[in-house]
Amino acid sequence: MKNPIVNIFIPHGSLKVNGLVQNQEAALTFSNSDVSWVQEILQILRANVEDEDISSPQTEHLSIDLRALKKENKEFREHVIIQGDITASFYVPCVRCLMPTFTKVHSIFQACFLHGALENYPEYRDTTHIFCNNQEMELYFFNKGSIELKELISEQLHLVTDPLPLHSEDCKGLCQVCGQNLNIKTCVHNH
Ligand SMILES: [Zn+2]
Ligand SMILES: [Zn+2]
Repeated sequence: MKNPIVNIFIPHGSLKVNGLVQNQEAALTFSNSDVSWVQEILQILRANVEDEDISSPQTEHLSIDLRALKKENKEFREHVIIQGDITASFYVPCVRCLMPTFTKVHSIFQACFLHGALENYPEYRDTTHIFCNNQEMELYFFNKGSIELKELISEQLHLVTDPLPLHSEDCKGLCQVCGQNLNIKTCVHNH
């Protein structure tokens, strides 16, 4: 029989390991419209975009759906498995012309959080993934009994976000000499 799912409210983006019940999956869902720390993640993602540069704004959003399961065994001691499904849409500046560019990302991940005391153990020191619960998972550590969800989610979004976004495949960029946006008109330096 499957264990019941409980909902937990996380006011500051830190999930307390003590707040989880062993072997009982917890469902954690958040969106930027109702949680301020989720809104902060969205603000950081869209850094360097000026609202006045967006002519007809599309809705930016960040939805987070997590399942957290605390377990304990000989190999990993107390640990927390987090399965995540995140969708986000937001503006980023085009790398060539800086025009705000609407982007959508989706991240699905599995992470295993071990106790911070294990972080310097030789078997974990140089590794980013572990095999846990018959699956490969990203390795994280919790310190002072807290899992920093804000950091986890920011990092996972970073991994799926295009580092060199273009507002259009054939963006002409800015003139290196005078800064003219060459998508709008040419300048004396470009013929
Ligand atoms: Zn561009
Ligand atoms: Zn020019």
